[in-house]
Amino acid sequence: MKKIFLITVAALLSTAAMAQDKQKPIYYSISFPNAAHHEAEIVMTVPQAPQSLRFRMSRSSAGRYATHEFGKNIYNVKVTAIDGTDIPFTQIEGDLYEVGSHPENIKISYTLFGNWTDGTYASIDPSHAHLNMPAAFAWVIGQEKRPVKFEFNDLDKYGWKVSTQLKSEGANVYSAPNMQYMMDSPTELANSKVTSWDVVNTDGKKQKINVSIHSDDDQATVDNFGKMVQKLVLEEKAVFGELPAYDYGEYTFITDVYPTDSGDGMEHRNSTCIVDPLEKVAGNENDLLDIFSHEYFHSWNVKRIRPKSLEPFNFEHANMSSELWFAEGFTQYYGDLLLTRAGFTSLDDYTRTLAGLVNQILNTPGAAKYPATQMSRYSVFADNGVSIDPNNNVNDFTSYYTYGGAIALALDMRLRGEFKLTLDDYMRQVWLSRGKVMKPYTIPDLQADLAKVTNNPKFAADFFKRYIYGIDKNNYEELLNKAGLVLRKIQPGKAWAGSLATNAGRGRSGQQRAVGTEGLAILSSTTIGTPIYKAGLDAGDIILKADGQTITDPKSFADVLAGKKPGDKITVNYKNRTGAHETTIALEESPYFEVVTYEKAGKQLSKEQGEFRNNWLQSKVK
Ligand SMILES: [Zn+2]
Repeated sequence: MKKIFLITVAALLSTAAMAQDKQKPIYYSISFPNAAHHEAEIVMTVPQAPQSLRFRMSRSSAGRYATHEFGKNIYNVKVTAIDGTDIPFTQIEGDLYEVGSHPENIKISYTLFGNWTDGTYASIDPSHAHLNMPAAFAWVIGQEKRPVKFEFNDLDKYGWKVSTQLKSEGANVYSAPNMQYMMDSPTELANSKVTSWDVVNTDGKKQKINVSIHSDDDQATVDNFGKMVQKLVLEEKAVFGELPAYDYGEYTFITDVYPTDSGDGMEHRNSTCIVDPLEKVAGNENDLLDIFSHEYFHSWNVKRIRPKSLEPFNFEHANMSSELWFAEGFTQYYGDLLLTRAGFTSLDDYTRTLAGLVNQILNTPGAAKYPATQMSRYSVFADNGVSIDPNNNVNDFTSYYTYGGAIALALDMRLRGEFKLTLDDYMRQVWLSRGKVMKPYTIPDLQADLAKVTNNPKFAADFFKRYIYGIDKNNYEELLNKAGLVLRKIQPGKAWAGSLATNAGRGRSGQQRAVGTEGLAILSSTTIGTPIYKAGLDAGDIILKADGQTITDPKSFADVLAGKKPGDKITVNYKNRTGAHETTIALEESPYFEVVTYEKAGKQLSKEQGEFRNNWLQSKVK
C-alpha cells in the first residue's frame, strides 16, 4: 500500500501500464435490476486471484476524515468459480471476508443498498446511481496496485450517462490504474446535463473542464451556470499561476442538485462530487458556486499539495492529520475570497464571512485552549463521524475550516502589510515546491516555504510557533483596519447570557431529550465562559423562571434579557434530576464581533486603505 501516490502523475500512469502487462485488471460489473428499491448488483471478477484471499469493504473514504461502516450495506455475498461453482468463504469481521481454497479465477458478487446522496455514500434509484466508490465497491487485500475496470450496465434502460474521472475505455467501460485512483473517482450515472470548455494552461496545453449536473434544470441554465464556473476557474488559476496537469487532461464537476440530497462537497484529483439540497440550479447559482469555489481550490490544495499524513489514504482506518488547518482552512479562506474577486460576492457579504472567521478564532473555547494542529486531528471524529451520544464540541472543538481560515486571513494581511507580498505568493511557492512535484508536505515544510517566500526565517518561525503550534492570536482589529474594515462588538451595551440549545430551536445532533413540557429545557452543553455556564446551567436543566418571570420558550427568556444591561444580575429558577434549584446569572456584553466597511461606519477611507483593499479583493485575471 505504501508509496502508491508518492510518485508523479506520469510515473503513476506508466507504472500502471507496466502492471497491466503483468496483471489482468480486476473487473467490476454493475447492474441495476432493482433500482426502485435502491439496490445494485455488483459482480467482481478477480483473475489471477492470490491463494490466500481476503476481500473487504472500506471503513473510510478519500477526503472524508472520519470512519464509516460501508460494510453494513452489502448482502447476498457470494464467491464462485467462473463457471458458477460455489466457493466457500467466511465472514470474519463485519466488513471482512476470507475465501477458502479456490481456482485461479474467481467471481465475488453482492447486492449493494444505497439511499443517501452526498460526497461519501451511495444512492441508487431510477433517477441515478450516485456512487462514491469506497461505499460501493469491495476490494481484495494485497491487490491494491492492480488496474481496475468498471462496466456500467443498464444505462440505456434508465437513460443514464456516465460522469466520472475514471478513464473511458469505450462503450460503458471505464478504468483506473490502481485502487487508490479508483477509490478517488466517484461516478454518477444519471441523465445529467453537461457543459464543457477548454482552458489553455500556462504551458500552452489545453485542459478540458466539464460541469455535469443531475438536476431538474434545462440545458440553458446549465450552460449559463457553466459560464459562471469558467470565470471562477480562471480566478483560481490566477492564484497559483497555472492549472494542475489533470491526469487525462480533464477535470469534472460531478454535481447533483435535488431537495432530498444531503449538502456536501468532496474533492478528488480530477473531479469533485458536489451535492446540494436545492430545488434546482436556476435561481440558486450563487449559493451553489460557494461549494464549487472551495472544492476546485482543492485540486491544488490537498489533492496535489498533499499532507504526508494523508498518504497513502488508508481505507480501513481514518488517516489522522495535523495539517487540516492548511488543507481545509486555507481552502476555506480562498473559497470565499475568490468568489469576491470573481464578482459573485459583494463586499458587504464578504465582511460577514470575515466576521464569522474572526469570531471562530477569537470567541470559541476550542481555539482559546487548543492549537489549530490539535483541532485538525479531531477531524477523525468531527467529519461526519456518526455517534448517538452527545459530545462537548462547543467547549472542546473549533472547526479546522474556520480556525484555519482565520489564520489564512491574518497571514494574508500580514504578508501584504509587512512584506509587500500576498498569500497568493505563498500559495504559489507551496504549489511549486510541494504540489506540482507531488512531494507530500509536513508542517516544517510549510514553514520553510514561508521562510523562503518572505526571505525571513525568523518571521516564519515566529508565525508557526505562535499561531500554528501555539494558541496566540493575531490582532485582527489592526489587520482588518489596513483594508478599511472596522472590527467592532456586535451588540454593544446590550445584556447577553450566552447561547442556549433548547427544545424550541432547530434540531441539533447530540441533544438530550427534554423531560416533560414545562419550562425551557437546555438540550446540549452550554459554552465555557458564558454567563449561563458560569451560573452552573447545562444540558438537562429546565429553566422555569428568570427574574421572577415564568419561562416557557426562548422568547420569554430573551424578553427578560431585553430589559437588562451588562452587569445586571438575574435570579433563575430551574430543575433537573436532582430537584429544584436557584442560581444567579451575571449578565455581560456579547463578545461577538461584526466587520463593517469604513464607509458603513461613517469613517473616511484613506487612499492607502482603498489600495490595500483593491489589491486584496479585485480580480487577478488578466
Ligand atoms: Zn474541503
